[in-house]
Amino acid sequence: MLTYNVEKHIGQLRDLMRQYGLTQSKLVLVDDVAKWVKEHKITETNPFRAAVAVRRTASQIRDIVVLKEIPADEVESIKSAMKFRGFYGQTERLNDEWLFIKHLVLHEIAHCKDISDEKNADQWAFDNLNN
Ligand SMILES: [Zn+2]
Repeated sequence: MLTYNVEKHIGQLRDLMRQYGLTQSKLVLVDDVAKWVKEHKITETNPFRAAVAVRRTASQIRDIVVLKEIPADEVESIKSAMKFRGFYGQTERLNDEWLFIKHLVLHEIAHCKDISDEKNADQWAFDNLNN
């Protein structure tokens, strides 16, 4: 399996954020999400992650931070976590690079829309995957 290239899809991802009304939010691609979060002094409970939605200081606007490249083992561990949360059959849909990345960003868009629960954010992302 190959590393997924998020940078390649940046235009489509920005369109996706706009489509869901996040016109003020930025999409930030980074080499290391945990390091970026630490450098920006943001409290993050899960240091092993490929994407995160962060609130700007003194603002309600949230930006979405995503890994530039997602290694194959990371892709597998994200899918395993989803299976663990009960999305057994649905994770099969994420074997496609674009759909995996789209789901990842939709999950963070869900958080920006105040869907805080992980399972509900995954469900919302699956529901909107074909839109
Ligand atoms: Zn989440």
